Amino acid sequence: MHIFLHFLIPAIVVGLFFRRDWQWAYFLLMATMLVDVDHLLADPVYDPNRCSIGFHPLHGFFLIAVYLSLTFFKKVRLVGIGLVIHMVLDSIDCQMTNGVWYV
Ligand SMILES: [Zn+2]
Repeated sequence: MHIFLHFLIPAIVVGLFFRRDWQWAYFLLMATMLVDVDHLLADPVYDPNRCSIGFHPLHGFFLIAVYLSLTFFKKVRLVGIGLVIHMVLDSIDCQMTNGVWYV
């Protein structure tokens, strides 16, 4: 379900705002899923009950602020949007599984 949202929400965003270059836009948004590589540093690598936000290094608050600021620059806007969507979805995931938005 969570993974499904990670594909669906970017598709909706691209469909609404980036129709002209939708293939490139969708590719970039998908590429932002690479921030999840930081999960590989954690032990265990995957834990469905763990909250990513505030736990994994690339899901920290400082970097979330950086991701937000990326959306203000045209060239990296899509990357920023993808990362922010990712963080929001991860946070919603925390809320649903643990009842918190972050750890
Ligand atoms: Zn994540």
